[in-house]
Amino acid sequence: MRVLFEELVFATKRSEQIVDITGDVRAIVNRWGVSNGLLVLFSPHATASIVLNEAEPGLERDILNLFRLIAPSDEDYHHNRIDNNAHAHLRSVAFPPYVVIPVRDGKLLLGAWQRIMFVENDGPRARRAVIVQYVGE
Ligand code: ZN
Repeated sequence: MRVLFEELVFATKRSEQIVDITGDVRAIVNRWGVSNGLLVLFSPHATASIVLNEAEPGLERDILNLFRLIAPSDEDYHHNRIDNNAHAHLRSVAFPPYVVIPVRDGKLLLGAWQRIMFVENDGPRARRAVIVQYVGE
């Protein structure tokens, strides 16, 4: 069994932003030359999310609107008494910062329209990370 690990690091530019990391993740998996196993993507941040969906610009706006509906930024949250980003934490609770993707014969088993989308809920940030961990053959 192989256990492989790499960290993707990037900056975000806006308070709310979707970053498509599919190409970067595929490049890592291709470089590893793995066959069959599980890929875990985990972002070690309390105000980020990872979702799998279509990277169509209109849908990306709709996804960000859904996040705003789940936790509007102008509510009177308890956490805002010590930090002004409760909405971003709550969005990360509703849409957690990890996904699992099966890998078969070295390929991510994503659907035709599925992309791996990191969602920034509290940007801009100079450093955001996604841990790419593989367990398998
Ligand atoms: Zn906070």
